[in-house]
Amino acid sequence: MIAEAAPVSTHDKEFNPWLAAEARFNEAARRLELDEGMQKVLRTPAMEVTVHIPVQLDDGRLEVFTGYRVQHSIARGPAKGGIRYAPDVTIDEVRALASWMTWKCAVANIPFGGGKGGVICDPSVLSETELEKITRRYTAELVDVIGPERDVPAPDMNTNEQTMAWIMDTYSMHKRTTVTAVVTGKPFQLGGSRGRVEATGRGCLFVTLQALRRFHMEPADTRVVVQGFGNVGGMASKLMRAAGMKIVCVIEWDGALYNPHGIDITALAQHRKEAGTIRDFPDAEAIDPKDALFLECDVLLPAAKENQIHSQNAGHIRAKILCEGANGPTTAEADRILEDRKVFVIPDILANGGGVTVSYFEWVQDRQGYFWNEGLVNGRLEEIMVNSFKDVTSLADHHGVHNRTAAYMLALDRVAFAVKLRGIYA
Ligand code: NAD
Repeated sequence: MIAEAAPVSTHDKEFNPWLAAEARFNEAARRLELDEGMQKVLRTPAMEVTVHIPVQLDDGRLEVFTGYRVQHSIARGPAKGGIRYAPDVTIDEVRALASWMTWKCAVANIPFGGGKGGVICDPSVLSETELEKITRRYTAELVDVIGPERDVPAPDMNTNEQTMAWIMDTYSMHKRTTVTAVVTGKPFQLGGSRGRVEATGRGCLFVTLQALRRFHMEPADTRVVVQGFGNVGGMASKLMRAAGMKIVCVIEWDGALYNPHGIDITALAQHRKEAGTIRDFPDAEAIDPKDALFLECDVLLPAAKENQIHSQNAGHIRAKILCEGANGPTTAEADRILEDRKVFVIPDILANGGGVTVSYFEWVQDRQGYFWNEGLVNGRLEEIMVNSFKDVTSLADHHGVHNRTAAYMLALDRVAFAVKLRGIYA
């Protein structure tokens, strides 16, 4: 059941997430002068599991799906990371995302390692019953792998609160007792946390406010361009607008809207809910989404998907601050171009750490059996985001490196320290 690390496919170097993570790792390890042996330990996933999931479909046919769970590191605590369902999930992708989680949890300084899971399936052609069967069998196969003290999954692409409820229930049935802390991102009624839905967007707001302070910029004079109007981008836009910033452009896959005076985000959210698209929103000009990323602005918030800013377009970015709401929106090649252009990058493993931070709060609350109000959640989130921002930027200033390198240096150093303290068990 435990698979060997598969060779990395290199058909498209720049866009391969595993190679992208590795490029950042190598740079940080070089700067930290980490010895070869420790690099090997930090680079190699602790465990990779492949499971085959037989499911009887609604029409009576039997189908077998493949699922993965990668625990990249458990040095600082249980592995933590989402589960995605998609037809093109690969072990490379899951592995890269698991390592990202290790570094993200270390930057936030929360007591988790990193993990990620995925099931190769197309949720758009599966019924609710079929998805439930896949989820429950996947969980049953992983019952000795996951757990509150071992590995704590969460939602990711195409999985949601309902998926987490099924995982929690299946795990609990096997353990013969209700174990809410086995997953985070659960419905509030089953032990979810207040503030989890807004957490990633809210975290983006907190770090952006820190960056503005650094440049003596006022929120009221700040123009923001947001790519992706989903959970992260939609929440961040709403909260940034409430903090006084102007959201001058919203970019979606099927169109982009521009209003130099600021888009009314609440009205746009309502419009999208009703129309199913941001297009034809009356109070903004429709512009070509391909050009919209290159608008002159103070803050660019990519919050859609990976590899949006790459070697071919990074030279056109005209933002002062790039706040990476999405995971991996910038390729390693683009990093160098942005660095030359003096764009202040708030890297993904710092900027979007708000989600996993409130997941950590959910896990703590479940284990305590005592739930916090939203003010407490948001206040503690702010403290962690501000501290993480300060830790990363101080390290960047001290070593004269870019924020992304500093974030990786901070993370690698913290994980290496934990590995050294624990020692190598043989
Ligand atoms: P989501 O599905 O809620 O939103 C994504 C939005 O981007 C959708 O509205 C979609 O239509 C839009 N989109 C897709 N392709 C696009 C394109 N080419 N151009 C413009 N818009 C496009 O997803 P989400 O949860 O908001 O996640 C977005 C990103 O943030 C992902 O990279 C995810 O891994 C990352 N992230 C999410 C969380 C979280 O808590 N949700 C936490 C950390 C990181």
